[in-house]
Amino acid sequence: MVFLFLLLVGAGFANENWEVARIGRVDYVTLESFRKFYGLKGPAVVDPEKSFDLTSPQGSMNLKVDSREMRWKGARYWLSHAVRQSEGITLIPRVDLVKTFDPLLRPNVEIAKRPVLGVVVDPGHGGGDYGTRAARGLSEKVANTDVSKRLVRMLEGAGIPTVLTRTKDRYVDHGVRAALADDRPGYIFVSIHFNEDSSRETTGWETFCLSPQHAPSTSSGGTLRGDERQAWPGNEFDHHNFLLTQAIHRAAVLAKSNAPSDRGLKRARFKVLRLARAPAVLVEGGFMSNPREAALLKTESYREQVARWVFEGILAYRRSQESPEGSARLEVATAGSAGTNPPATTLEAVPGFRASSNPPVAVRPGIDPAKRPAASKELEVRKAVAVEPEVRKALPVEPRKGE
Ligand SMILES: [Zn+2]
Repeated sequence: MVFLFLLLVGAGFANENWEVARIGRVDYVTLESFRKFYGLKGPAVVDPEKSFDLTSPQGSMNLKVDSREMRWKGARYWLSHAVRQSEGITLIPRVDLVKTFDPLLRPNVEIAKRPVLGVVVDPGHGGGDYGTRAARGLSEKVANTDVSKRLVRMLEGAGIPTVLTRTKDRYVDHGVRAALADDRPGYIFVSIHFNEDSSRETTGWETFCLSPQHAPSTSSGGTLRGDERQAWPGNEFDHHNFLLTQAIHRAAVLAKSNAPSDRGLKRARFKVLRLARAPAVLVEGGFMSNPREAALLKTESYREQVARWVFEGILAYRRSQESPEGSARLEVATAGSAGTNPPATTLEAVPGFRASSNPPVAVRPGIDPAKRPAASKELEVRKAVAVEPEVRKALPVEPRKGE
């Protein structure tokens, strides 16, 4: 049995109440408050056996109880934690509320736009590090370089400055790669890779951004296992990481022809994503362990196509970051200049989810009887106040030695 506290979080200055619950170490908001805040339409009662749709003017999402999978306008996304249901109350993971749903539903409300002034293109691996060698006659490092150079030509052709992390077949340290974005305000970081799996059947496209702090990586199955505690420089860009990543993901998997199968937008703490002080994405553009995709990747036309999808995604993200008010607002928010963001509103007041170190909210005695579910021993509803602001931006930290 799951032990569940249901907390009503009054934001103090806000009229909205967020109903916040915790199961184990994971914080949730109720589907009801989620729907209310965003004005989403959906079923009043959720059948845990069936997926359900929530619709907004921006689009429609599909969710299922006990699943981390989410569909948004035709593409697949992996949530940090599964949607849950307890005592008939459906619960949405709070980290996904802030790091996934809010960027989708209000991409430019809480966080300032970041005009794209250039792109660091990172061909993965190199030198003695071949990456995957699952395809006969084509190693990953070579495919990465070829696609990266094609991408650079497309970007330069569109008037977007670029820097390659390596132009030759040599190994470059991850920290050195990521650092190329440091001195270039307004650049984004795009790492190109190809995939491998123990099953030769596995095919498709995966696009990764950095896991938010206090959230598991997609491959962990949703369990918190300790690697989520550290804040990385890349976490400062969670919002833009997500927007950039989904733009590239959608450009590929929703392509009108030859679209690769959709393995979803994922999160991981890959080293270059952790260290990049810029919005960053890591593309896994197909499985070299799959004979069909490996054969495709050996053709120039398909490598050109892969580069084109990434390019189109970058353009879509870049367009989303252009300010309609003109050049006066084309200031680039660099690390530490959070002052360019608009003031916090009600969502920001959902207290931080410092699962390991802090209780999610300070609980005041006094139960709101109107909100107490009937005769529930497992469910406690209390009035609570937010004591700490939402932790949207993890603090930049110096990478540890050996990382
Ligand atoms: Zn790789």
